[in-house]
Amino acid sequence: MKLLIFSHRTALAISQVAMHVNFYGVRGSIATAGESTRRYGGNTPCVAVEVGGEQLIFDAGTGIRALGSDLARATGAGRVHANLFFSHLHWDHIQGFPFFGPAYVPGNRIDIWHVRPGAEGPMVRDVLSEQMQPPTFPVGLDMMRAELCFHELGLGEVVRVGDARLRHAAVDHPNGCVAWRVEDPHSGASMVYATDLEHQADALPPELIELARGVDLLIYDAMYTPEEYAGTGGPGRKGWGHSTFEVGAALAELADAKTLCLFHHDPSHDDGFMDALAARARRRFRNTIVAAEGMALELGRSQDRGLVLPAPAAQTSASS
Ligand SMILES: [Zn+2]
Ligand SMILES: [Zn+2]
Repeated sequence: MKLLIFSHRTALAISQVAMHVNFYGVRGSIATAGESTRRYGGNTPCVAVEVGGEQLIFDAGTGIRALGSDLARATGAGRVHANLFFSHLHWDHIQGFPFFGPAYVPGNRIDIWHVRPGAEGPMVRDVLSEQMQPPTFPVGLDMMRAELCFHELGLGEVVRVGDARLRHAAVDHPNGCVAWRVEDPHSGASMVYATDLEHQADALPPELIELARGVDLLIYDAMYTPEEYAGTGGPGRKGWGHSTFEVGAALAELADAKTLCLFHHDPSHDDGFMDALAARARRRFRNTIVAAEGMALELGRSQDRGLVLPAPAAQTSASS
C-alpha cells in the first residue's frame, strides 16, 4: 500500500482507482487566520474523500467553503452530488455549512449523515437550521435550493455510498461523537477519521482499535501535547474531550495502521510549534504525517502519477 501527497487541484482531476483524501480544514475549536498558522492552515475541520466517483465529506467546519468552490469548479455546468458525514455537531464542525455553495444550487444533491446519540439526542437538520436563523445569520436553511437529504443513523448502522462502505464507532467526547471508517473494495484502500475524542487513562477503547484495524490512514485528534494534557506547567486538559499524538501512536501500533495523521490542531499551536510536534511524533511512530490545508493523499494501488506538493516543507510522503 502506498501513500502519496498531492495538491487539491491535482487530486480532484485524477482517476477513480484509488481513494483520494483532501484536507480543507484541520484546526480545532476555532479558525485561526493569520501568518503564524499559514502553512498548516487555520480552517476548522473538513476532509473530502473521493472514492469510486463518489464525493464524501467529513464535517462542515470553515474549510467546507473552499471545498464547495472546488466542487463547483470541477463539475462545471454539471450537478454536484456529495455525501456529508458529521462526526458530531459542535460549532467548529458545522459552522462552515452556511457557506457551502453547492447547497444553494437547484439540481445539486447533498446527502447528510449523522449518528444520533440516543432517541433524545439532537437531529442534524435542527442543529443546522438553528445556526441559520436571525439574528445570527440572515439566510435560512430553506434558502438552500439543492436537494438536502437528511439521514439519522442509529449507533452501529453501516452505510454504503456507491461501492464504498462506511462504519463508525462512538468515541468519548462531550455531547457524543463518532469516528468513521471508509473502505473501498476496488482499490483495497481504507481510512479512519477519528477526531474529537478523549482517550481513557488506562486503555484505548476496543471498538476504536477494531475500527482502525489495518487501516491505510488514521486521522486522529492530537490537539494537545502530552504535557498540556497532563497539566505539566499549566492547567491540565483532562475531561476536555481531546487526545495527544502519543495516544494516536499507541492506537496506530495496536491497530496496525499504516500511517498516522495528526489532526484538530490546537488554535494556539503555530506553524513552528507544529513542526516540532511533527518531529516528536515521528520519533514515536515513524509513519506520522501532520494534516495541513491543501494536503491531498492518494490511498490504494501504487500510482506513478504522484507528485509531492504543498503543505509543510518538512513533510514527506510515507509508504509501507
Ligand atoms: Zn472539534
Ligand atoms: Zn467537539
